[in-house]
Amino acid sequence: MDQNSKVYTIAVFDGDGIGPEIMAPTLKLLETTAGLLGGFSFEFTHLPAGATHYSQTGDALPKASIDAARAADAVLLAAMGLPSIRKPDGTEITPQIDLRFELGLYAGVRPVRVYPGQSTPLADPRAEQIDFVLIRESTEGLFAHMHEGQIHGDSEATETLRITRNISEKLFDFAFRLAAQRAEKLGRKGRVTCVDKANVFRAFWFFRTIFLERAKAFPDIDADAAYVDAMAMWMVQRPWEFDVLVTENMFGDILSDLGAGLMGTLGLAPSADIGDDAAVFQPCHGTAPDIAGQGIANPLAMILSAAMMLEWLAVEHDDVALTQAARLIDAAVGENVVAKRNLTGDLGGTSSTVDCTDAVIATIERLAGSDSYADKVA
Ligand code: NAD
Repeated sequence: MDQNSKVYTIAVFDGDGIGPEIMAPTLKLLETTAGLLGGFSFEFTHLPAGATHYSQTGDALPKASIDAARAADAVLLAAMGLPSIRKPDGTEITPQIDLRFELGLYAGVRPVRVYPGQSTPLADPRAEQIDFVLIRESTEGLFAHMHEGQIHGDSEATETLRITRNISEKLFDFAFRLAAQRAEKLGRKGRVTCVDKANVFRAFWFFRTIFLERAKAFPDIDADAAYVDAMAMWMVQRPWEFDVLVTENMFGDILSDLGAGLMGTLGLAPSADIGDDAAVFQPCHGTAPDIAGQGIANPLAMILSAAMMLEWLAVEHDDVALTQAARLIDAAVGENVVAKRNLTGDLGGTSSTVDCTDAVIATIERLAGSDSYADKVA
């Protein structure tokens, strides 16, 4: 290994269901990319957690795994949970959500993007221009007291929604900074839209008021607000008009699956959960128990989440080689999706998880060795 090569420590949660099936080829892809570009490498540590671990030990997210995740440079997580494995109160274990609370990962970043030339469920040709980012607050909202809901006899149940000024300010500042970065990259004005239900709920009026206050600190970015029900319709009718959407936890949970639907499948939807000093990268989808064990899951959302991890590490460690790696992976996935090369069943193909990943690796190798490589990653 190159003596000057930087080693990044990555905590890996393989998880349940299709998790291990999409994680293994993704790690192979990362190692291949590092070998091709040089200058960096990875040290992966596999950590126990998840539904299967819970059924064996009674602990879904061991403290040692949390500590190791906190100590790592970044965390990669496939997916956790199985509907067949539940706690005595009937709910599922949710270590993937608990980790967000443990590490303070308030900004759930979910890009919704269609590659030019990619087929989508929308007939409108403008669907090719879809490129927005949904930011889901990930530590409070309706999830703030998620293990404390009350069932009163058999006649009533209550849950509590919590919005704090501290987290909301950090969330909105994150959204405006992201819009500014995108504006610079895309060469146009940035826009952040707050998605809420401020017409009915005081907590959302509070949320929107803080949003409008923080907007004043970012005069170069347009700021507006929309009700979540209208936004659900507009995301289908004219999704190409949006730039950065920022919303509460539960609304973001639902709208991000709608965003995945715009891309044609959850198997193309990556995400990053980002806090002040830690980040977890995982696909938007779950453990897909209906197809687990068959080797047919789409690995692309996991691979794109790994690319988001490289982008984040690049900024954190001021390492331009990681930016190049991230863009190379993204370009290779885009090329394969548009060319319909070795895709899995959810994207209309017949390839296995492993063949789909190997085809992306082959494209990475070709792009890295080609003269147009500089253009592809510029
Ligand atoms: P899911 O995302 O696992 O599956 C929904 C549908 O999408 C299924 O038909 C599935 O086959 C398909 N799908 C999902 N990922 C795919 C992929 N990579 N390739 C091809 N098809 C894919 O959602 P669900 O069925 O509601 O949940 C299953 C389990 O996952 C539950 O236990 C749930 O709690 C858990 N879950 C975990 C996470 C997470 O760890 N981040 C997120 C959501 C759900």
